[in-house]
Amino acid sequence: MTGFSGEKLDLLVIGGGITGCGVARDAAMRGLSVALVERDDFASGTSGRSSRLIHGGIRYLEQGQLHLVHESIRERQTLLRIAPHLVNPLAFTWPIYRGARIGKLKLSAALLVYQLMAVGRSRRHSTLNAAETLEREPGLKSVGLTGSAVYYDACTDDARLTLANAIAAKQLGAAVSSHTRVTEMIRDGARSVGAVAKSQRTGESREIRARVIVNATGVWQNTFDGDERARRLHGSKGIHIGVPRERVGNRDALTLISPVDGRVMFCLPAGPQAIIGTTDTWTDESPEAVHPSAGDVDYLLRSANAYFPRAQLTSDDVVSAWAGIRPLATAKGANPSAVSREHSIIADSSGVINVTGGKLTTYRSMAAEIVDRVQEALGRKKKAAATDSVELPGEDRPKEIARLQREDPALLEPLVEGLAYTGAHLVYGVSQEMAEDLSDLLIRRTHLAFETRDHGKRVAPRAAAIVAPHLGWNDHTRSARIREFEADITRMFAIDGA
Ligand SMILES: Cc1cc2nc3c(=O)[nH]c(=O)nc-3n(C[C@H](O)[C@H](O)[C@H](O)COP(=O)(O)OP(=O)(O)OC[C@H]3O[C@@H](n4cnc5c(N)ncnc54)[C@H](O)[C@@H]3O)c2cc1C
Repeated sequence: MTGFSGEKLDLLVIGGGITGCGVARDAAMRGLSVALVERDDFASGTSGRSSRLIHGGIRYLEQGQLHLVHESIRERQTLLRIAPHLVNPLAFTWPIYRGARIGKLKLSAALLVYQLMAVGRSRRHSTLNAAETLEREPGLKSVGLTGSAVYYDACTDDARLTLANAIAAKQLGAAVSSHTRVTEMIRDGARSVGAVAKSQRTGESREIRARVIVNATGVWQNTFDGDERARRLHGSKGIHIGVPRERVGNRDALTLISPVDGRVMFCLPAGPQAIIGTTDTWTDESPEAVHPSAGDVDYLLRSANAYFPRAQLTSDDVVSAWAGIRPLATAKGANPSAVSREHSIIADSSGVINVTGGKLTTYRSMAAEIVDRVQEALGRKKKAAATDSVELPGEDRPKEIARLQREDPALLEPLVEGLAYTGAHLVYGVSQEMAEDLSDLLIRRTHLAFETRDHGKRVAPRAAAIVAPHLGWNDHTRSARIREFEADITRMFAIDGA
């Protein structure tokens, strides 16, 4: 636990997902004294298991959630501007088949609204006939294809976007700590005036006192005491699978309607992989242990095969499968896909501000709204931060990695054949990106664990040897970290019932 001076702070943020890290950056930029505490690694929860899209959410138009779409489109444009190294435009092809639930007319009307909401800040969508569609995506089923629409959203590296906010907060003076769990609130009468934070490494506990506390623990929120109303939280599980892209044959991103249940889903290009997702089912699983079931995987394979008949994907093609839980702010309804992705910000009776819901895409505007509430609670005048114009850190990462490789050519060697990750990525991760263990490095600072069938198990000893001198690991610690990593990848990537 570093950077905690012991004096009473303005703000303690609990939870280092995109919400908590965004709040910490915004508050630090407004000049507040801030601590951010994360129990595991930044983005180790839902924020590192998303579809990695920064999108307007075209499917929300069908549900009439115009406000959410408007906010998401605005934020997409903001993130493209402040994080060009992390957020990239992505073209989507939406194929249309005879008799589809969303036909050409409905889709064109939706895309027109989408376009108008972007008020000229986005590339124009276009429509293609069947032949043009097959030219663009030759692997698609041709029977019944009447054409397609091509529109533009954006994609990101979710873990790195989260991390960039944590790093920015730290650079602005916040005390930022990962692998540190809040175990209990400190009360003064009915009011929460701080929390006890325990280092997951050393077991050392310390008190952090703050005038205002933001609970940004997402689906973990129920683990704190407080007002029942603020604690009510529902989770919807979403899984993704990664398969070799050449097996699917998709060139770009595709928006598809699952023939199994009529839900909107995506097939996304991610380097050598195609990522197919997602599902949307209520779950009571623990967020630490959530993973996909064989039934979830089968649903995605069947849906993808219906569109890419030549692929004939089977479970043998699945390189990795993982799950996340969406913290949804609305009461549990019959269909989680129909539940709004808007957020709620509720102060409980002890004064803790609980945040629920939201999207990766809208994190920045949500953080600004939360910090407005914090300033109100502090009795200070609201002062907006320039989070929409100051660039997020990390744009010099490729240059710095290349420098490390020049200085030590051994760091140039790929960790796994066919993937671009090298020892230099790991050294950079531990020296510049607050990575503390192999899971941080192989799951979130790189995506090696997602992109290999053994999830990095074979390369882990070599990775440990590369970073050991930088982290002060002896042989005993090295072995312990490798064992912890193996347990983490089993927890994250095992498929139930496979
Ligand atoms: C399958 C799926 C796909 C999605 N795709 C997209 C998408 O493409 N685009 C989009 O915009 N949104 C997407 N979302 C939504 C988005 O990912 C979430 O809304 C967002 O990541 C939630 O972030 P969070 O910070 O609130 O929660 P989390 O990321 O879960 O963060 C909470 C953090 O709190 C920490 N924590 C818990 N307890 C404690 C404690 N006691 N002490 C300290 N720390 C603690 C946890 O370790 C965790 O890191 C998707 C969600 C899912 C599930």
